[in-house]
Amino acid sequence: MSDSDNLGSAKNQRRFVAAWLNDFPCIEELPNDNTKFLCTICKQKYKVVNKQRLRAHVESKRHQKMQNNEFKRSEKEDAIHKFLPKWLEDIRFKSWLQMVPKDENKFHCTLCNVDRMCTGGVGNLIRHADAPEHVKNSIESGIETLQDIPAEDIHDSIQSFEDRKKTREIQFANLGRAANIPYSTMTKILTFFQETDPTILQHMTAGATKISNIVRNVLGPV
Ligand SMILES: [Zn+2]
Ligand SMILES: [Zn+2]
Repeated sequence: MSDSDNLGSAKNQRRFVAAWLNDFPCIEELPNDNTKFLCTICKQKYKVVNKQRLRAHVESKRHQKMQNNEFKRSEKEDAIHKFLPKWLEDIRFKSWLQMVPKDENKFHCTLCNVDRMCTGGVGNLIRHADAPEHVKNSIESGIETLQDIPAEDIHDSIQSFEDRKKTREIQFANLGRAANIPYSTMTKILTFFQETDPTILQHMTAGATKISNIVRNVLGPV
């Protein structure tokens, strides 16, 4: 093998290949340097060697860990942008707060008659409750302003929600245990009901005969 052959193959191997973008969506090509690639998960540039090394990077512990963190972060951000039904139980907000139908990123204030973004979560609700316009509307409607609600009442209202949640979780676990349902199935069952329209849920029936008929006549064998 001549020197020029060596150089040639090395060159071919070490250049970024655009087709890799399909296999590894987390990497990006660098416009001014095709000897390196950018990993958008690790937020770092790495030397291009070949596809095997690229795969090794994506499967590496370090990269996987960064990816999990990224996932957790986006999950957290997601949650904070969305309306949380537990806010409706909070003594600080319950007398004026409503969900906005079909827009889970907003909340509605019945006193000010406005829709606002949920971005920032509870902090944002507190800011709204403290705003001069809202305070004025509260006083006019005879509703306790945030400043007037005793701290221990706030604590109790949050605690009572947490307590009721905990009680229900214990009852659910007990139901699962008594019925011998695998733990992982319990999660699926809960998710199923959480994804069901509450009105539909209230009207659902599931007698043994009905379930057996559905399985036999509608679903058929697995
Ligand atoms: Zn990476
Ligand atoms: Zn308001």
